[in-house]
Amino acid sequence: MSASTSSPDVAIVGGGVIGCAIAWHLARAGARVTVVERGVVGAEASSAAAGMLAPLAEGITPGPFLDLLLASLARYPTLADTLREETGIDIELCTEGLLRLALTEEQAATYQAALAWQQACGLPVRWLAADALRALAPAVTPVAVGAVLSTAEHHVNAAQLTTALAAAATRRGVTILEQTPARGLLRVGARVVGVQLADRALAAGHVVLAAGAWAGELGGWLGLPLPVRPVRGQMVALRPAAPLFAQTLYGPHGYLVPKRDGTVYVGATVEEAGFDCRVTAAGIAQLLELATRLAPALADATFVRAWAGLRPGSPDQRPILGPVPGLEGVSLAVGHFRNGILLAPITGELLAQHVLGQPTALPLDPFSLARFAVPTLGEQAGTQSPGAVG
Ligand SMILES: Cc1cc2nc3c(=O)[nH]c(=O)nc-3n(C[C@H](O)[C@H](O)[C@H](O)COP(=O)(O)OP(=O)(O)OC[C@H]3O[C@@H](n4cnc5c(N)ncnc54)[C@H](O)[C@@H]3O)c2cc1C
Repeated sequence: MSASTSSPDVAIVGGGVIGCAIAWHLARAGARVTVVERGVVGAEASSAAAGMLAPLAEGITPGPFLDLLLASLARYPTLADTLREETGIDIELCTEGLLRLALTEEQAATYQAALAWQQACGLPVRWLAADALRALAPAVTPVAVGAVLSTAEHHVNAAQLTTALAAAATRRGVTILEQTPARGLLRVGARVVGVQLADRALAAGHVVLAAGAWAGELGGWLGLPLPVRPVRGQMVALRPAAPLFAQTLYGPHGYLVPKRDGTVYVGATVEEAGFDCRVTAAGIAQLLELATRLAPALADATFVRAWAGLRPGSPDQRPILGPVPGLEGVSLAVGHFRNGILLAPITGELLAQHVLGQPTALPLDPFSLARFAVPTLGEQAGTQSPGAVG
């Protein structure tokens, strides 16, 4: 990917799924965009993800966050078609749905109690008693007392999605600078005017920070705390001799995702391990126990590989989107935690609209950094002086 020589309208720090989605949407709207990526596109959380598009899987209730998740989910079929047309890349949108397994009567009651509001939201969910569950997915543990069948919750190949977004963005003129860490922001007073690279200043009309789990470290550039931290997730891939189930199996402590290539992704640990991205013996043991608990026949599957990624966690597990209090010319798209793949389409669309000064399709206020009561720039000790590079 080539180097930019002119000043872009928008510079994006971070070439994960979020940065690439924003770049693509901005380029479709006619903006000149440069993405600055310290490593290679999609190498971090965005390629570690299971790729589930599962808005109901984390105990969510109605509200702006569910609206955001559902809006993004709804964009996926068109996105998959468009990316295939523009790049030839198949993001492997699998639409067999998801089974949320109840292993106890208590879980069954909790899941059944939520069905009414989920159906009222228009979601195609229904309860399957044990017999019906066994008929649909015989490999599911006999311990399961039933499951919610959710036919609108799907999954994609997360790495392919990120690659496709980057390729589509590049085809529309976006410059992606790989192996190019951003070192700070260029500022004139309270206005951000670009990004400091190792060897030069990249002037830009607007800067979007989309640095995933590393976003917290960028708070120093803003002179404000940016409450994003790494949350490690380990995964393993197993290959059964023949497909065991078509739907994603979502249990109380993890999930099994049957991928297009015949492997089953088993995920995921949720660990506060800082920036330690190792795969550990304990992590693998936990995941293998989970796999055979939910689908005992996986005990005979071939172990394919294990990996780990760092989710960008925020205090309320929701993304931080939009302006930075007290600063002009800079926006945030960070903290997507466990839903960054699901949320990439709507994040790209909303951030592009916001940066271009257009009305946003959904309100950004519920996802503002201001909800964490961060001090404004003037209140913060160590604020950068005008013209400083952080
Ligand atoms: C094991 C696991 C399973 C997951 N499963 C799912 C799932 O099923 N569904 C779902 O929706 N989500 C899932 N997620 C979450 C999802 O992967 C993340 O929310 C999403 O990838 C975040 O994307 P991002 O672009 O913000 O971050 P990243 O993909 O981490 O990208 C950030 C990029 O910024 C770059 N960067 C950082 N600092 C700088 C700098 N100073 N200069 C230049 N570049 C910089 C990094 O190199 C990186 O490439 C999972 C995550 C993990 C770890």
